[in-house]
This record gives sequence, structure tokens and C-alpha cells, in this order.
Amino acid sequence: MDIENLEELAKELKNDENSTVIALFEEYAKTHNIKEEELEQILSKKHDCFKCESCHKFYCYDEYSFFDEKCIYCCDVDSEDEEEF
Ligand SMILES: [Zn+2]
Repeated sequence: MDIENLEELAKELKNDENSTVIALFEEYAKTHNIKEEELEQILSKKHDCFKCESCHKFYCYDEYSFFDEKCIYCCDVDSEDEEEF
């Protein structure tokens, strides 16, 4: 599949059915000669697309916690673990 611009990339990255989002992300960075950190920043600032450092998927603002640099689902899992032990 050809990704033409960042808007399309962001849409694909947030697609739940896409299991190769990190590969897609890295590929785009490489093809367009952008550093991965830079691409991550552009996506988060302009395209409502945030990378979870825990499960390595991409989420929109509502599903992402800036404080933890994780999606809310990973945060949920973590806090449940703490309660159990
Ligand atoms: Zn996550």
C-alpha cells in the first residue's frame, strides 16, 4: 500500500486492523528521510496520532496519556497490576 502523505499515514497507523504499524512508521520515516523522533512529533502535533511506548501502537489524543507516554489501555493494565500485588 502506498502512503502519500502524513494524513494518510496517521490514519493507517491508528487503524486497529493494521498489525504492521511500526513497520509502516519506520518505512515512512526512511522513505521521506525524516528522523523517527521527528516524525513522531509531527504526527502527534498535527495529526492527532500518538505512539504508545509500551505496546508500540498509535492512538488518538483521547486514548493516550502524555504523562505516562502510553495509551490508556496500557496504563489500565499497569494500574490493575499494582492493585493486585
Ligand atoms: Zn499501549
